[in-house]
Amino acid sequence: MFTAINRKAKRWVIRQIKRRPIVLISDTTLRDGAQMPGIHLSEEGKLEIAAALAGAGVHSIDLGFPASGPAEVRMIQRIAAEVSGPILSALARTKRSDIDCAAEALADAATYKKAVTLFIGTSPMHRKHKHQMTKAQVIETAVDSVSYATESFELISFGAEDASRTEPEFLNEIYEKVIEAGATSIGFADTVGILTPTKASDWIKRISDNVRSIDSALLGVHFHNDLGLATANSLAAVSAGANMVQGTVNGIGERAGNVAIEEVVLAVTLHPDEFGRKVHVRTESLSSLSELVARHTGIAPAPDKPAVGTNIFRTEAGIHQDGLLKHPETYLPFQPDLVGAGPVQLVLGPSSGKSAVRHHLVELRGRRSEREQ
Ligand code: MN
Repeated sequence: MFTAINRKAKRWVIRQIKRRPIVLISDTTLRDGAQMPGIHLSEEGKLEIAAALAGAGVHSIDLGFPASGPAEVRMIQRIAAEVSGPILSALARTKRSDIDCAAEALADAATYKKAVTLFIGTSPMHRKHKHQMTKAQVIETAVDSVSYATESFELISFGAEDASRTEPEFLNEIYEKVIEAGATSIGFADTVGILTPTKASDWIKRISDNVRSIDSALLGVHFHNDLGLATANSLAAVSAGANMVQGTVNGIGERAGNVAIEEVVLAVTLHPDEFGRKVHVRTESLSSLSELVARHTGIAPAPDKPAVGTNIFRTEAGIHQDGLLKHPETYLPFQPDLVGAGPVQLVLGPSSGKSAVRHHLVELRGRRSEREQ
């Protein structure tokens, strides 16, 4: 009786969230990002990153995979005890024992601030070679695990792994069944990063138009960057109606990485006319988040990395330097303070011109007279 009322109320809240003009940002730096070869994130590092993500205002954080062992469980418990704000999520395969580990890891977190993310491969490739399951068995397993998860979690996310290589009708069917079983959000994963923006948009429209009760569950997307299209695909999905984008800081992750959340946040923020939606991540936090993740992972983004690369506000070319000295917007799409970066730097080099040299000399003279005073 109470469960029925509770579910009705939850669905009402989800419908309200879906109507709001926002794009929810979910971060998986600590899970998918940490799977990048060569990365080892210490517990302290993870704690500091989780706190910074919470400070930046992300909607949810994928903390890790508790079934991988007691150390992961303890790490998640510690983060849950010290970090508040976002929904904290633990990943689980569609197995009861994995869900138990997730429940243990998040036992002390507040009911509506914790979630379990269940995933199973849905594509023919994953069904046949990874799970050795028929379509019916995949559905049964997914539904059973979602129902089981409702005993420990109010917020249950179901992610279809390799969704982008799944038969559309089958994908819709599995989403429908897991929502019926109690999933509060469904995830579309382009696990191998194969989609283009047009196809990403088609997928999201197809899911939104055909999955019954889709208004009772948030629709999230998870893109990889194998074709360099993760940001474009995420934005196309947003335009097509996705409620949530999951990605990582600096775009770290498996192979070519995940979508970089800083790029999605900036694009949505800078184009309100196109998206008509807000993100609640503070753009001023993006540079420091990037630096923090680079420091703890030992992987610095490329100097020309969009949004947060060290060259984004440095210029050496004479014409650009001269323009920037005349007006700071001549050769910049946005000012450094938008992403919390330092001031524009005019670097002297072979392609610099007279303006920048003059500018540097004037600055040096100013500094010398300050010293002499
Ligand atoms: Mn992934």
